[in-house]
Amino acid sequence: MDTIIEAHSIPAYDAIEALKANTEGGLGKDEVAERLRIYGPNSLPKPKPTSIAVYFLRQFYSPLIYILLLAAAISLLLGDWQESIFIMIVLLLNSIIGTIQEYSAEKSAEALKNMVRTKTRVIRDGEEFEIDSEELVPGDIVLLESGGKVPADIRLIEVQDLVVDESLLTGESIPDAKDPDLILDRRTPLGDRENMAFAGTIVVSGRGRGVAVATASNTAVGGLAASLAGKPETKPPLILRMEKFNSKIALGVAVAVAVIFAVEIYRGEPIYDIFLQSVALAVAAVPEGLPVAMTVALSIGMSRMAKRNVIVRRLVAVEALGSCNFIASDKTGTLTVNQLTVTRAVIPGRDSWNVIDLAKSPREVAEEAAGKMAAEGPVGSQSAGQTSALKALARASVLANEAFSGFRDGGWDYHGDAVDVALLMMAQETGVTQQEEQSNYPRIAQIPFESKRQFSATLHQGPDGRIAFAKGSPEKILKMSCRMATPDGEIPLDPQGADKVAEALATAGFRLLALASGRFPENQEFAEDRLEGLTFLGLVGMIDPLRPEAKAAVEACKSSGVQVAMVTGDHPATAFAISRELGLADSVDQVVTGMELKDAEAKGPEAVDALTRKGRVYARVEPQQKVLITNSLVRNGKLVAVTGDGANDAPALHAAHVGVAMGKGGTDVAKESADLIITDDNFASIVSGIEEGRIVYNNLRKVIFFSISTGVAEIFLFILALIFNMPLPLLAVQLLWLNLVTNGIQDVALAFEPAEGGEMNRPPRPANEAIFNRLMVEKVALVAVVVGGLTYAIFHWQMSMGRSIEEARNIAMIMMVLFENAVVFASRSELKSAFSSSPLRNPLLVFGTIAAILIQVAAMYMPGLSDVLQIHPVSLYQWVELVGVALVAFAAIELHKLIRRRFPMIG
Ligand code: ADP
Ligand code: MG
Repeated sequence: MDTIIEAHSIPAYDAIEALKANTEGGLGKDEVAERLRIYGPNSLPKPKPTSIAVYFLRQFYSPLIYILLLAAAISLLLGDWQESIFIMIVLLLNSIIGTIQEYSAEKSAEALKNMVRTKTRVIRDGEEFEIDSEELVPGDIVLLESGGKVPADIRLIEVQDLVVDESLLTGESIPDAKDPDLILDRRTPLGDRENMAFAGTIVVSGRGRGVAVATASNTAVGGLAASLAGKPETKPPLILRMEKFNSKIALGVAVAVAVIFAVEIYRGEPIYDIFLQSVALAVAAVPEGLPVAMTVALSIGMSRMAKRNVIVRRLVAVEALGSCNFIASDKTGTLTVNQLTVTRAVIPGRDSWNVIDLAKSPREVAEEAAGKMAAEGPVGSQSAGQTSALKALARASVLANEAFSGFRDGGWDYHGDAVDVALLMMAQETGVTQQEEQSNYPRIAQIPFESKRQFSATLHQGPDGRIAFAKGSPEKILKMSCRMATPDGEIPLDPQGADKVAEALATAGFRLLALASGRFPENQEFAEDRLEGLTFLGLVGMIDPLRPEAKAAVEACKSSGVQVAMVTGDHPATAFAISRELGLADSVDQVVTGMELKDAEAKGPEAVDALTRKGRVYARVEPQQKVLITNSLVRNGKLVAVTGDGANDAPALHAAHVGVAMGKGGTDVAKESADLIITDDNFASIVSGIEEGRIVYNNLRKVIFFSISTGVAEIFLFILALIFNMPLPLLAVQLLWLNLVTNGIQDVALAFEPAEGGEMNRPPRPANEAIFNRLMVEKVALVAVVVGGLTYAIFHWQMSMGRSIEEARNIAMIMMVLFENAVVFASRSELKSAFSSSPLRNPLLVFGTIAAILIQVAAMYMPGLSDVLQIHPVSLYQWVELVGVALVAFAAIELHKLIRRRFPMIG
């Protein structure tokens, strides 16, 4: 058996035969295993991962590094090979640290991407299954559904309204309708093969069934399909801003260095020494490692989010989540569990409508009726009529239904849309089974459910003619009906009566569905506009329990300044009842309907913005209107996270600052348009994501503060030396050592800080808040003055005691190492006391600190290294003295925090 290459030129059944496939039952288990062995998994060969060597070399792409390399070369030329080797070693260590950081960040991002898998529905062994698309084999019978990505090249067998977006293939943006009955010329271009669906294209609407004719790299587009995997990653805005900031600093440093350079020349120092000195100062002042450290902080946030069921597809989202102040969330499945149970049935009546409580099982209801009969004598026809009306409702429920039920492993097994499954279960209780009804009324055609359509319908062959069954929102179904079935026979429809019951049930929080049926002419096409004059059979009311965590999560949003709105296709009264229960809305004024949006849209953006300013509940909204809401919220200055799962949600997910797709219930389209994927579909996880986003942002500020402030302190130290006309307190090699080696792990370690607590008790930070706000500037200045000043004082004091310049520098250098450690511990929280959280909660930081000191001590004792660095061991007593001085800096920062906690910054 071969894969068929030109399946479009033969009838579907020939393709099926050639593939030894089976339209009804699909392939058997063993056959699948065999084919999987022959054809391999349905996945394209993965691009080779970037090698670690590339990461390593990338560390050298930086002007500062180029200059340092040049310095090493010059040293060598001047015959100072020791210094040359030293610079090389420092660069090497620096690059190794950078490589490890970037490589592990990249790896964890990749691992996260692999957690999102595409699923496909197939028929195998006579039953419907959902499998990983990778497990698909040629000959599999595949079911296509709106929003899904076509998993392989498929020869279509049967379609209902199937429309596929093939822009990937053809570049043409208008989606193509499909027709399986065509038999096309062999040379028909890919874009015109209307009896095929190609791997990687997207089902815009409708349903389809077909046979997989080619998988993996045998598909028409092969490599192309893979390119859909992700939008190109743009750098997060914060990192872009940091890079810009770096180049500004570099300019400032250039000026400062030029001044020092000039003074030194005037003093008659050798040119090469001054050159190296200037480079080292530049290294000290420009936080060149900062963008990498920030990327690491973001990627740590990403891994932490993954543990809380939030998968980040783009780093940008981590940052945006931290300042998100509005969530527009789907109701069904996100705020609720989407496990529906029909607990009410409503049957039309001549005088009054019968609302039947199905929470008591239908059997109980029947018994109750029987009991009533015994007590009150024969109520006769009415009760029997009621039962038969309920049966008619149940029959329509199982026929106009896309779900599947089967008896498996000793129990009933259902799968499909939650609404459809709930209806099947309800019917089962009433004694109506899908199998039996479907064999009595074979299905001829179907209009599948789409959210924007609000109904679904099927056409069946009855004993005496064709019958249509429809189910959907009451508004929609009432419009199609002109009569209604009561226990006493059919009478003209009473739309007001129906509206009244519907309104009452919706207000009680029920999700409502109406059902209708009617004869359908023999030779007419089954389409929406032909569905008229039906007989209204009744309503069902379903309960969809709230997710247990949802209420607390909405509460958490409130206390953290994040507004929440619900967006749903459901009835306004249902939506309002549920949002009230969630504490999301308290007044009907906050309910905005799809109709109101449409009217406002016609009036212009201002009208829409006025609606979205008050709206907390958006009901009977069409999926396409989500993007209207999103855009308007953005105009209103909100930083918006929007959830989506359906085929039509992609534009809204793109328009939002943070597009959130549902991992379980979401379509492939939604997932591919999203920045985040929530693996448990739970609203509460979005809130966890926001919390983690805030933690990441706080940590970024800590990393930035630490690396900037110590650099500025070193510059200040040098300026003091110049002002007091002293020799430079640190040698070039010493500066390099401090900045690229001992300091190397500490800034990144701050990125690992755990939550400080209370992140969700504050309002979100403004999206455009400057990193260098007043607090940051104050703190940086403080560190510069205290650390730079004290180091200079000690250096000066050593010199005035008549110590050699080497000794004074030795002490200054130890002082700087200790200061860095003191500052890093005080940086663990921007405002909270350093004693409020045990340092052991951040093992990497403790390790980094011990390592920094050990490295320094080792360097003092190591022959070659101590010569180049011109350092030597000092007495224990001196260590203790210096540690004491370092603690002064620690105390100063803590004191400043204390003051700022008492007297918070305004603005
Ligand atoms: P939601 O945003 O809550 O998921 P939908 O857009 O899915 O809402 O549904 C809107 C309305 O369409 C529902 O209130 C219900 O009346 C109707 N409906 C929902 N699911 C189905 C279905 N599978 N078949 C027919 N009608 C449905
Ligand atoms: Mg839905």
